[in-house]
Amino acid sequence: MTETTLPEAQAGAVLDIDLGAIADNWRALRARHATGAVAGVVKANAYGLGAEKVVPALYRAGCRHFFTALLDEALAIRDLIPDAMLAVLNGLFPGTEAAYVARDIVPVLGSLAEIDAWAAIASTCGRRLPGIVHLDTGMARLGLSDAELAVLAADQTRLRALDLRFVMSHLVAAEEADNPLNETQRRRFALACGSLPPAPRSLANSSGIFLGAGWGSELARPGAALYGINPTPGRPNPMRPVVRLRARVLAVRDVAVGETVGYGATWHATRPSRIATAAVGYADGWHRSQSNRGTALFDGRPLPLVGRVSMDLATFNASDHPALCPGDWLDLIGPGRTPDDVAAAAGTNGYEVLTSLGRRFQRIYRCA
Ligand SMILES: *Cc1c(COP(=O)(O)O)cnc(C)c1O
Repeated sequence: MTETTLPEAQAGAVLDIDLGAIADNWRALRARHATGAVAGVVKANAYGLGAEKVVPALYRAGCRHFFTALLDEALAIRDLIPDAMLAVLNGLFPGTEAAYVARDIVPVLGSLAEIDAWAAIASTCGRRLPGIVHLDTGMARLGLSDAELAVLAADQTRLRALDLRFVMSHLVAAEEADNPLNETQRRRFALACGSLPPAPRSLANSSGIFLGAGWGSELARPGAALYGINPTPGRPNPMRPVVRLRARVLAVRDVAVGETVGYGATWHATRPSRIATAAVGYADGWHRSQSNRGTALFDGRPLPLVGRVSMDLATFNASDHPALCPGDWLDLIGPGRTPDDVAAAAGTNGYEVLTSLGRRFQRIYRCA
């Protein structure tokens, strides 16, 4: 019995991930970024979609530069991409240097202290070690401050131990094409690079690639756009959709006028209604903030989410869908309902929608 049971037969919700679309999106970004290479940012388990599947798909498409946030994430994928540059954005934690050296992982150095620690290891090893220097041009999270940059520019000997792969910075508001901060950061970055030894530069994230040719650098670092998030909000999405999420309808019931639905009784019927209960909840990353605000699709037509999202269940108003019955599947994310649409209903962004996608889903990976 069990060996003939389809995995879908047990699934409350099914997450389809189109690896071919991710590869196409990478190729489309590379075509747009004429001045240099295009990396794949695969931090947070490739934005929740599964680094062990996404990383080889990007590699097969031609990607040879990868970024994670943490060393652990890099170690987990190192063997999948033995000859690619693999860099860690969050910097060099004391005590982890040997692991970077052993697995040929490149630290993104965000302070003088990190540069000096890496240079010290290089002299112990007796060879130059690859590093990326991160300059803060306005984000005020990580990267050398202007004061630290001035110290580094005045005494560049500390860079001699490094094989300086890239100098990088990160844009604050690239998704707002006419935000003057973009130009301010571009100028600050160019000026800062001019005070350091010549090295390839890396500035643009997904949206930065769409700011224009003047934003060219030797390496772009897209994440979101690879996974189908719109890098040009307010304009049509140039990327292919990557994710489809469907949830099973477990029950359909009639609710009379005045009756309420869900915890806290936050929704009540103002006309005789049909309520469909689907197998997705906030434990699956279906944010509770979508209570009384979210939407699902059935046969391409919307059903409003009514009542509170609970841990394992969400309820939808199926009054306009007389044919809907238990065992049907509702589309939660797909071509007609993008991660950005879901984010708008949840009061967040597409990045948080994807990185929240739960572990209980039946995951199906589609190849090109
Ligand atoms: C996450 C991240 C990126 C990727 O940004 P997207 O907006 O997802 O394209 C690039 N660079 C740095 C430093 C990041 O933290």
